[in-house]
Amino acid sequence: MTDLERKQRLPVPSEWTYAPAPESRDVLQLRERYGHFVGGEWLEPKETYPTISPATEEVLAEVGQATSEEVDLAVEAARGAYENGWSSLPGSERAKYLFRIARILQERAREFAVLESLNGGKPIKESRDVDLPLAAAHFFYYAGWADKLEYAFPNRKPKPVGVAGQIIPWNFPLLMLSWKIAPALACGNTVVLKPAETTPLTALLFCDVLRQAELPPGVVNIVTGDGSTGAALVKHPGIDKIAFTGSTDVGKAIQRELAGTGKKLTLELGGKAANVIFDDAALDQAVEGIVNGIYFNQGHVCCAGSRLLVQESISEAVIDKLKRRLTTLRVGDPLDKNTDVGAINSKLQLDKITELVQAGKEEGAEIYQPPCRLPEKGYWFVPTVFTNVAQSYRIAQEEIFGPVLSVLTFRTPEEAVEKANNTPYGLSAGVWTEKGSRILWMAQQLKAGVVWANTYNRFDPTSPFGGYKESGYGREGGKHGLEPYLTFDSEAFGG
Ligand code: NDP
Repeated sequence: MTDLERKQRLPVPSEWTYAPAPESRDVLQLRERYGHFVGGEWLEPKETYPTISPATEEVLAEVGQATSEEVDLAVEAARGAYENGWSSLPGSERAKYLFRIARILQERAREFAVLESLNGGKPIKESRDVDLPLAAAHFFYYAGWADKLEYAFPNRKPKPVGVAGQIIPWNFPLLMLSWKIAPALACGNTVVLKPAETTPLTALLFCDVLRQAELPPGVVNIVTGDGSTGAALVKHPGIDKIAFTGSTDVGKAIQRELAGTGKKLTLELGGKAANVIFDDAALDQAVEGIVNGIYFNQGHVCCAGSRLLVQESISEAVIDKLKRRLTTLRVGDPLDKNTDVGAINSKLQLDKITELVQAGKEEGAEIYQPPCRLPEKGYWFVPTVFTNVAQSYRIAQEEIFGPVLSVLTFRTPEEAVEKANNTPYGLSAGVWTEKGSRILWMAQQLKAGVVWANTYNRFDPTSPFGGYKESGYGREGGKHGLEPYLTFDSEAFGG
């Protein structure tokens, strides 16, 4: 029998699938225990807690749970570095350190990407192709501004603010770190940063990069711990500015705490963005945009397109295409290069998503979840679409922060705008249409800090990002992202 004849007799496989393509963990050398990074040295922590991989529940390392005394030491180190050289260093010298950090991040990108996926649960193709390149790009971009502040703000005599306390969430750990640290350092400030409790490891690996770049000790200090560490940082009298990204509730608590203290504050909080599809949009492209808008990073994205607004005449076609596309999403091992949707970041977040999805079912929305085999260990949620959603339902009002899409319909552009703006948030929005004039009109009507047209979830360090209403205030990215880290002569005279 010839080879060809033999092959023809083989049974046709019942299921076609990709072979596993796991990224190797060999590139990583994790320590068993990490302290706090204070004054360029590792400070042995008084208390620790285990940090895990949400995909397997495996303990990866013990990390410090910083007490207020340890926060004190970090702020003291930051103040010392600020006063003893960093704030008076010429911008061109500060830029050299930032360029160095950017280049080292690029060189060590694979190591960071693997660790980000391991500790946070996001697919390796996202940490490799989005988080790491953007984190390096932020350092490159702000390195460029460090010696041009006088030109960016002519006749305003920009000066650094002092010591910045920075608190970041778990959805883009290294990227949020770079959004915070790069502009602060470019402007001549020193920082104490607290990563989220569940994702401290890339911030701790970043301390290695700081040493490699020979950044002066104390310019960047990193303390790990839970919300109480964040609260201690906010309250600390030695802090001049707080930059916070996280939930609206904690943002409001911080704002109350800082009222009357004179400390500067920027808040980047939640969102419930509308992704609006008009009947003249390129539907296949729009469906890719919808998928990217809500299933990217398991929907753990503050600007996720979690409310889909579809023009009524095309809603059936869009929902059919979307459901078909969902069946092709691969949910599973974050370190597998074929994975589209990874693990939910924590048990707490999984419980929150599960509770809101249950509320959606009870309120009367129709649920669709593609057939999907989930791993037995770890935290997982099947990509979900709700149709027949009324605006009053919790799934149309509250931030789910998971891979769950709520679909609503509209008939006219005016109705689309009214529904899109019917939310306490105002972080982002998407518009899909062939008409340029409609894009411009929509962008003017939508109360959102960012409006994407015929695309979604596009980020660039040169472009400011931030919200309206309960999504917070202040901008990160671009020239706007420098301002929160500067004081100006006019401010000194109460102007
Ligand atoms: P939080 O707002 O609690 O966490 C954000 C950061 O703030 C973390 O580092 C957290 O520490 C810290 N923190 C918590 N409490 C305090 C406090 N009182 N003072 C100072 N810092 C504090 O968000 P969660 O992680 O609890 O997520 C809850 C919800 O928030 C999500 O379901 C989602 O809806 C939203 N969210 C929005 C994000 C965004 O990008 N806009 C990002 C993350 C969450 P710790 O990690 O130890 O709690």
